Amino acid sequence: MSSEPILRVEGLVKRFGGVVALNGVSLEVRRGEILGIIGPNGSGKTTLVNCVTGIYRPDFGRVYLLGEDITGEPPHLVASKGVARTWQKVRPFAKMTVLEAVMAGALLRTGDVEEARREAVNVLTMIGFPREKFDSPGRSISLVEHKLVDLARAVATRPKLLLVDEIVAGLRPHEVEAMVGVIRRVNKELGVTLGVIEHVMRFIVSISDRVVVLHEGRLIAEGPPSEVVQNPLVVEAYLGTRPM
Ligand code: ADP
Ligand code: MG
Repeated sequence: MSSEPILRVEGLVKRFGGVVALNGVSLEVRRGEILGIIGPNGSGKTTLVNCVTGIYRPDFGRVYLLGEDITGEPPHLVASKGVARTWQKVRPFAKMTVLEAVMAGALLRTGDVEEARREAVNVLTMIGFPREKFDSPGRSISLVEHKLVDLARAVATRPKLLLVDEIVAGLRPHEVEAMVGVIRRVNKELGVTLGVIEHVMRFIVSISDRVVVLHEGRLIAEGPPSEVVQNPLVVEAYLGTRPM
């Protein structure tokens, strides 16, 4: 196995008018790890995901996937090269069933509908989604179930890198706890490398191998979770924002 990081981002800059959402961000996601990416609201986390996945083209800087420069490539190409993401704002599907929504992920990789169906069943089972709801339409499932379906859809593409954007936002404490278990299984049992984006520190500390902290578009800290949360710069960045 090469020691090449799965993802390498160098000097990313992204502006929206006068707002500098990313101001020279460099980081790596290493093979097999769960990298926590935290920061207060508005610190540039989702913009980073959007620049890596091709939704936005960065103004400056490069994005490398396993050493290949993918900067500015369109979302479908980035996805086909093995980068999947989940959405901070769930995009509810009304008519499709749970199974069909997850099959859509598998169908990015295979044209065989039956194989996609098997893959969707496997992934939903692995993440503990209730089997009796596999054929439920989207309109009948809860927020946490939507988040699990979005995660399963992304996992069903069999990504090299999965970026999870604030998956526990809006969830109840016991649902957050369950999500920790689900993400760990995706990492350990399926061997998926993950970037987990959150502003809730507790969740990130319990799940990450390593953490980086964004503040006003810059990386202000990096290291083991227990150290990072005690870093005075990080504490200060979080003061006056929503509670940790
Ligand atoms: P986070 O995900 O950390 O909460 P974002 O990446 O969503 O932060 O936003 C970072 C900054 O960029 C914020 O000031 C936000 O208002 C701004 N921003 C993000 N996306 C857009 C956009 N499409 N148009 C204009 N401003 C944006
Ligand atoms: Mg965000």
